[in-house]
Amino acid sequence: MATPIYTIRCTKNERIANAVYDITFTKPDGFTFAPGQFLMFDVPLVSNPSDIQPRAYSIASHPSEPELRLVVRLKPGGRASEWVEKMLTAGMDVVVKGPMGLFHLHADASKDILFVCTGAGIAPFRPMMRQAIELWPDRRIDLLHGVSVHEDLFWQEEMGAIVAAHPHAHVHYALSRPTEEWSGLRGRVQEVLPTIITDIAHRNIYVCGNPDMTKELKALCLQQWGVPKEDFHMEGYV
Ligand SMILES: Cc1cc2nc3c(=O)[nH]c(=O)nc-3n(C[C@H](O)[C@H](O)[C@H](O)COP(=O)(O)OP(=O)(O)OC[C@H]3O[C@@H](n4cnc5c(N)ncnc54)[C@H](O)[C@@H]3O)c2cc1C
Repeated sequence: MATPIYTIRCTKNERIANAVYDITFTKPDGFTFAPGQFLMFDVPLVSNPSDIQPRAYSIASHPSEPELRLVVRLKPGGRASEWVEKMLTAGMDVVVKGPMGLFHLHADASKDILFVCTGAGIAPFRPMMRQAIELWPDRRIDLLHGVSVHEDLFWQEEMGAIVAAHPHAHVHYALSRPTEEWSGLRGRVQEVLPTIITDIAHRNIYVCGNPDMTKELKALCLQQWGVPKEDFHMEGYV
């Protein structure tokens, strides 16, 4: 069956951190998706809007929320990055295809959950974290979010609110280039992970973010830390 195409309307486009934008859109009637899936956007070239190319963005809202939400981290000189920064405003209609993708929670797993992400890679984990808590209130769930500097961090309050009522859910933040004032975790997520999670081999693991990180973490998990292949799931933001 062909993937459905929708026209959705931007209702907010707000810069929330260093080069990071939180964007909401109307949700078409009857639109359903699984937490972890993404939408393919028709993205015009700012200097020539009739030139359109597709770009993928994870859905950062939970299916129960009334709007569709994205978080986009700009890439210097990128087509969609320029569109988000200079053109996309509330009231603008956008064409999307979806939902797409096979990155989602694996319901048969009986293990504790580990989410690892960098930058905007936290997008699918906002709804997946909520879903995991709803499905398995007794399992331990950890999310490690890595960024470069303090100014890159976002959604700390939101993620804090999601885990607040759940004694087994935890969010950790790591900076790879922290200043002296930063009292939290230091280093890339690949380095930090084994220092905070002692049972990596027994977790159901979901990784999302830049492709170098996802590949490196996959190699570490499967080849060094003893994670079974079927317990490792990743989405690289190529
Ligand atoms: C399944 C999936 C989900 C995703 N979800 C998200 C998400 O939720 N949030 C998010 O922020 N991103 C997400 N991404 C990444 C996103 O799709 C885009 O790749 C990203 O936003 C960059 O797009 P862009 O058009 O701005 O950059 P592009 O135009 O694709 O360019 C990327 C970089 O390459 C450089 N470049 C382009 N052309 C050339 C060239 N010819 N020579 C040299 N350099 C060049 C650009 O300057 C830029 O720095 C996702 C990707 C996938 C696959």
